[in-house]
Amino acid sequence: MKYHAEPDGRLVFEEPVCSCGCAHHPVDKDIYVGENLLCHVPEFIARRGLGTRCVLVADDTTYRVAGEQVHRALTAAGYTVVPCVMHREGHLLPDNLACGEVLLSITRETQFLISVGSGSVTDTTRINAERTGLPFVAVGTAPSMDGYTSVVAPLLHRGVKIQRPAVCPEIIVCDLDVLATAPMPMVASGVGDVLGKYIAKVDWQLGSIINDEPCCPACVEMLDQALDMVVNNAQEIAARTKRGMRALIEALLLAGVTITIIGNTRAVASVEHNIAQYWEMMMIRRGLTPPMHGASVGVATLLVWPFYARFAAEPLEQLDEKRALFRRLTRAQREDWMVRSFGEEGGAQIMREYPEDFLDEGEQLRRVRRVKERAGELRAAIAQMPQVDVLLDVMRTMNAEMTPQEEHVPEDLLAMSMWCGKDYRSRYTLMKTLDECGLLETYLSDWPCPEWA
Ligand SMILES: [Zn+2]
Ligand SMILES: [Zn+2]
Repeated sequence: MKYHAEPDGRLVFEEPVCSCGCAHHPVDKDIYVGENLLCHVPEFIARRGLGTRCVLVADDTTYRVAGEQVHRALTAAGYTVVPCVMHREGHLLPDNLACGEVLLSITRETQFLISVGSGSVTDTTRINAERTGLPFVAVGTAPSMDGYTSVVAPLLHRGVKIQRPAVCPEIIVCDLDVLATAPMPMVASGVGDVLGKYIAKVDWQLGSIINDEPCCPACVEMLDQALDMVVNNAQEIAARTKRGMRALIEALLLAGVTITIIGNTRAVASVEHNIAQYWEMMMIRRGLTPPMHGASVGVATLLVWPFYARFAAEPLEQLDEKRALFRRLTRAQREDWMVRSFGEEGGAQIMREYPEDFLDEGEQLRRVRRVKERAGELRAAIAQMPQVDVLLDVMRTMNAEMTPQEEHVPEDLLAMSMWCGKDYRSRYTLMKTLDECGLLETYLSDWPCPEWA
């Protein structure tokens, strides 16, 4: 996928030419990356004709680093701005309270929303934009995740992590000087979110081989580009130079733009995200501070990484079908398992959202046979993954957290996440392959499943 930057900083993405079977949506949003952009935000908004009356959403920190300046620029340009600055003791969570605060700041007069922040601020604004039908503008303050261009909002609803359909901002503004003020752990988090794409990519390819899931080569190419940008600029990113910040934010946007193109997060999130989200959800429930999103994605990526090469080395052509079906859970056992792993409310919610995730015996057998028939293709997809040292080097350069222990993930949650990461959604991943083929137990022998023997 080709893209270039206009003189005003706007990134222009060419429409993908592709016959993969996915419906492709053009990237028709205005995405700006550059220096000294905050003072131009009023012009960017005027150019898009979004109106003059807005709610500006930020938290204490993001208001200080960029929100105040945007607020002033808008007021000076004649806009009416209602600030919604959320005050929290610790980190802002994208929860019921935050979503409600934004909603109550909106009036009949509001014409658009503008978020100034990274993940949580953007997502609470995004869901409100979707529910009110108002357009929104996102001013990024940290290159910490790829969600700026997303059309789904990960939120916390009564303590359960949920994904809700939402909308992409009409305008995204990423000022390199602002991004460079982001603390190093946030930068490392962005890098971790990008590194997770290695898993998302290979899992998508496995889904296409096993389940004939459409896999878009144009999006895969964008993932490769994003990964190369981060791997090749690790030093600059760690030094938070302009060049480094540009490489990282463009990598995140490039990966994120695939969400706009195909309308879902298939290209950017797989089992590494499920595991990370499990930690986040469960740690919040226990009153613990979870690791930053991308930081846990990076660590979860390292955890599942060895399974791919190990699977590719199995005599897949000789898979034992009886053994594969031997450990099958009945529907009632699975319901029990889901409640045990995700809690009463979480388990019920996931099962309601992904009813197709319970496979009947016929479907499981079909998948196992497909693994046997197309083992060569599976191995070829896995063979494209780099050596794990490539990831380790990049993460060390960022001084990133490398283990779940460094992230203070409780041992029982860690073990559980390795088992139930595959069950968080029906999206196909190697962990599902392992489970369906009866291999998961052996692979997870280092993580004996809590209360499950
Ligand atoms: Zn992510
Ligand atoms: Zn395509």
